[in-house]
Amino acid sequence: MIHVYNTLSREKEAFHAITPGKVNMYVCGPTVYNYIHIGNARSAIAFDVIRRYLEYSGYVVNYVSNFTDVDDKIIQRAREEGVDEMTIADKYAQAFDEDTIPLNIKPATTRSRATAVIPDIIAFVEDLIHKGYAYESAGDVYFRAKKFKGYGILAHQDLAEMEANAAGRLDDQELTRKEDPIDFAVWKASHSSDEISWVSPWGKGRPGWHIECSVMAQKYLADTIDIHGGGIDLAFPHHTNEIAQSEARTGQTFVNYWLHNGFVNVNDEKMSKSLGNFTTVHDMLAHYDDPMVIRYLLATTQYRRPINYAPDTLEQARAELERIRTAYRNVFFRISTAKTGHDDSVDYAIAEHISHFREAMDDDFNTQNAIASIFELVTIANNYASRDEIKLDTATRLTHAIADLMNVFGINGLSEHLTLSAEAQALLDKRVQARAVRDFNLSDQLRDQLSDMGIIVEDTTQGQRWHHA
Ligand SMILES: [Zn+2]
Repeated sequence: MIHVYNTLSREKEAFHAITPGKVNMYVCGPTVYNYIHIGNARSAIAFDVIRRYLEYSGYVVNYVSNFTDVDDKIIQRAREEGVDEMTIADKYAQAFDEDTIPLNIKPATTRSRATAVIPDIIAFVEDLIHKGYAYESAGDVYFRAKKFKGYGILAHQDLAEMEANAAGRLDDQELTRKEDPIDFAVWKASHSSDEISWVSPWGKGRPGWHIECSVMAQKYLADTIDIHGGGIDLAFPHHTNEIAQSEARTGQTFVNYWLHNGFVNVNDEKMSKSLGNFTTVHDMLAHYDDPMVIRYLLATTQYRRPINYAPDTLEQARAELERIRTAYRNVFFRISTAKTGHDDSVDYAIAEHISHFREAMDDDFNTQNAIASIFELVTIANNYASRDEIKLDTATRLTHAIADLMNVFGINGLSEHLTLSAEAQALLDKRVQARAVRDFNLSDQLRDQLSDMGIIVEDTTQGQRWHHA
């Protein structure tokens, strides 16, 4: 049984899907006005791991996410660059794919852009007005926060505190347009002819930020969904407002389990533009040759904990991943010469550690404990590979176990570096034959030839093995 920490209840709860065997999951995506930063990548990877574990556990996951492609930041950026808003949004939506594919983040089942659902947004807002939860004011439409019972519960916000904060943030114009300072915009009037806008019953304008997620979750999933995810910084106001909008419209619970991921610090400091440590994934990928190391660092920390992105934590991630890859290869290289049959005691130990892995992941996706189970398999693999004789079934089971569990973390390709050209394979085969007849001159000559091709051959007591230089 999977247990998840629900931000709404502040407790770990047993996970029950609304429809057995299926999970409807919504995760907030980025605003496409710049390259995504490491915090966006952390959130995308955290929920990718959760999705992969749900799939590993037998669920069919319908995963919906958004691109916020219209807001103040995009409009400002378009002005700065002298292009229209959609040029900016298109560029960074495409960059999102370019940055997330190397990190092996599965594409959403549905990823929609806010501007693709404008008629749905308008219909949603009209319904809120009709139900008395929203009102038009000078072309804007605001949500009556206090009318919604339980507003602020998700982030445990006190109403008086919210009022004080809201009043401090608003300019006089906004204050006069609102009935109450804590009301929030679901539709914003356009105040300039050179910014993107749509015709609506309230004049030309564009959606407020929060409304798109409420609309997409309902349109592509259901009135009540199983899991909603995002960074902990989104709990207030974004998710708080999503709950108010959605539940005001449907009268149903919007989300059964609210999951929030923790922050990423850079060199032990909070990431911010003013500190100059704002790290984009685009830059990270350009400067780091192995994206799976970045993925390993971000995936193997439990999703609610903070991660420190720094040269030494990356180096540690690289070393750990290399240990896993090496153990995998140690067994992989023995498979071709393994005897048929299996070894009971090793099979038993493999099953035991798979079950520990599942226990750890069932406990609110505790990837830190789960990776410890993989390292138990690594030890077994290294010991088994050093035996004089190994059995095919057990060796196969061992490599599959490591590969399957690493796949939950989204780290594939453990044998990727083990592919060879037909030519290189032929030379390796020839070398095995040469050594069998003790023709060491030929064997050395073949080793040099392979070395020129970037393949380093080593002879071990269990036979020849190789790796790329
Ligand atoms: Zn959202």
